Parts: sequence; structure tokens; C-alpha cells
Amino acid sequence: MEQKRSIQFPATDKAEELVRWGLEAFHPQVALACSFSLEDVALIDMAVQVRPDARVFAIDTGRLNEETYRCADEARKHFKIAVEWHFPKREDVERLEREKGLYSFRESLEARQECCRIRKVEPLARALQGLKAWITGLRQEQSITRGALKAVDYDQVHGGIIKINPLVLWKSEQLWDYIRRRKLPYNRLYDRSYASIGCEPCTRAVAPGAEARSGRWWWESPEHKECGLHVREPEKIATKPARARPGMHNSHK
Ligand code: SF4
Repeated sequence: MEQKRSIQFPATDKAEELVRWGLEAFHPQVALACSFSLEDVALIDMAVQVRPDARVFAIDTGRLNEETYRCADEARKHFKIAVEWHFPKREDVERLEREKGLYSFRESLEARQECCRIRKVEPLARALQGLKAWITGLRQEQSITRGALKAVDYDQVHGGIIKINPLVLWKSEQLWDYIRRRKLPYNRLYDRSYASIGCEPCTRAVAPGAEARSGRWWWESPEHKECGLHVREPEKIATKPARARPGMHNSHK
């Protein structure tokens, strides 16, 4: 059900203040969505300074990089947090892989969105159940799909709960400065020219200066580079299973 629009949004664009506002206004019905990106690690650091018991959830798609798992466990120990992991529905993943193989997402935009829907979008919806707000590491600078992002907004895709994006105006240099100054654990793929890290088969390193998300689904056009976690309109989430194309060879090369 959509939340009543009586909430006074904070008059600040400072990341730490936005995190504090979110936690003070909504805890325990607010959680930080975490993929163990630089952004997410910085946000956890800000959150646990306000509340050591701040809630952090993550989605294990089953296709993450080993480096991401290692970073997740380093972060768990560093911040002394219990990460709320969510997995995709086993029966949906089994059906997808049995019917279409392990790399169906290479075959079409619809097939890619189907995989993201099963492995990310559905678990996210479950993770958000019962929450009044969520905190994300989205930044405007990351891609053309995120240029109009606000620091605080209603999330129409997820029942009108509040979506807080404390780093919306942060630049990459600012983020690195925060990570180094606070000596925070980070995903080592960043040391290998990765700029935005998702699932292993759908993420690659980028050239210096390239848009951060150009290494995600690099075979698609830029306006499609969202996995469905952060679309602004419900209809932009693929809801129908894509059909496997006969004779397609499922290769990730
Ligand atoms: S990023 Fe790739 S592997 Fe991960 S859920 Fe989306 S399509 Fe599937």
C-alpha cells in the first residue's frame, strides 16, 4: 500500500545527514540495499555511526564474483553487522537454467531482463516487504539512466515507500577519498579497472574515464542498462518470461 505523503523530506543534500535522517525517521523499517560497491560500503560506514544495528540487506544472485563475496565478508567483520542475505526463488532459477541454459541473458534484452527479474528484482521485492524506506548508493554520475535521480523520493515501483539516495551528487573521486580516509574494505575488482560491479558474467572492466556502468551489459545500448532494481516506473520491469531462441549457443564469450 502506498505510504501517506505526509513525510517531510530533509532539507539537506549532505550524505551523512540523509543517512541519519533515514535511520532516525524509519528504523527498524528502513534498510540499506547493499551490493558491496564502494558506495554501499561508504553508506554502511555512515549508517553504523548513527546506529550500530542499522539494517543492511544484500541479494545473492548466484552469479556474483568471488571478489564480491570476499568483500561482503570483510565488510561483515569490519562493521560487525549481520547482513540480511536474500536468494532468488530456487524453483525459478532451476526452471530458467533447465529450459534456457546458463547464459540465456546474452540472447536478447528480454532474456536478460528475465534473468534479472528472477535473480534480482523478485528477491528485492521480498527484501523490501515491511519497510517504510530504503537507502541506496545510486549516484547521478553513474550513467545516463540516473541523471534525474533525487536524494529522497517516493518509490512508486515498490508501493510508494521512501527511497533515500544519500550519495546522489557524489563524484567518484569523493567516494574514493571517503573509502581511503576511513580505511574501509572494498571490492578488489576496482583495482582491476572495474567501475560498477554486478554479476560476474554481466560485468567487465572499463577504459579510464569511461562511464561507470559501461562495463555492465556492454552488449546492450546505454538506455537499457538497468537491472530492474532501480527503474522509476512499474511497467519498465520485464514481467513476462522471455522465450529461448532455438539453436542459440549459450556462451559467455
Ligand atoms: S546481471 Fe546478468 S547474471 Fe545477473 S541477474 Fe542480471 S542478467 Fe542475470
